[in-house]
Amino acid sequence: MKRVYNIAVDGPAGAGKSTIAKSAAEKLNFVYVDTGAMYRAMALHFLRNGIPAGDEAAVSQSAKEVDVTISYENGVQQVILNGENVSGLIRSSEVSAMASAASVYMPVREKLVELQKNLALKENVIMDGRDIGTCVLPHADLKIYLTASSQVRAQRRYQELAAKGEECSLEEIEKDIIERDYRDMNRENSPLKQAEDAVLVDTSHMTVPQVVDRILELFHEKRMKE
Ligand code: C5P
Repeated sequence: MKRVYNIAVDGPAGAGKSTIAKSAAEKLNFVYVDTGAMYRAMALHFLRNGIPAGDEAAVSQSAKEVDVTISYENGVQQVILNGENVSGLIRSSEVSAMASAASVYMPVREKLVELQKNLALKENVIMDGRDIGTCVLPHADLKIYLTASSQVRAQRRYQELAAKGEECSLEEIEKDIIERDYRDMNRENSPLKQAEDAVLVDTSHMTVPQVVDRILELFHEKRMKE
């Protein structure tokens, strides 16, 4: 079997995980796997079917029946829900809130974690999420815990949405981020936390290229030691 390399990137909402991981993947010629998109696609399914986030039995049953996969178009990850490409439909705050609420249930996590583990067995991947270093890829070659202050993270989200012409309030965004972090960090199943062997990178005062360079440097250091 060919030697594959796995890099795990975890951290709270808005820490810059996807931007950073995508760019590092391009530079390393690795596959970028956005696991949040998988939870979001499931969340969209629950919303479309009127399944309330608080109904654990209904969410768990529906998670078993639904089909979520990913594919790549020109190197860009697409998430497929029951055969439909839903990549353009999963970034709303409604979907964010449902993804965070439904991802506390084990049947939701088990299904997606299996898909994630299988992807990482076959390819060099840089995978981002909340539980990648602690649960999905415990033997990853490099683990990064990316964070930034909640003000900085809210400001980044705000600028992203404003650039798309979406109306939003900075206070509301920061409130959503704090709520989501609290739930992600305090849930019983696979809470967001820094793995013991993860390197902490605080991006509050770093530019995207600086963070990407830091990750590449850490990865090359690891490889030198092999
Ligand atoms: O990363 P993103 O913001 O797209 O993730 C949406 C939600 O999905 C998170 O708030 C979290 O609750 C959940 N998630 C998770 N485990 C992952 C990735 C995302 O629980 N590995």
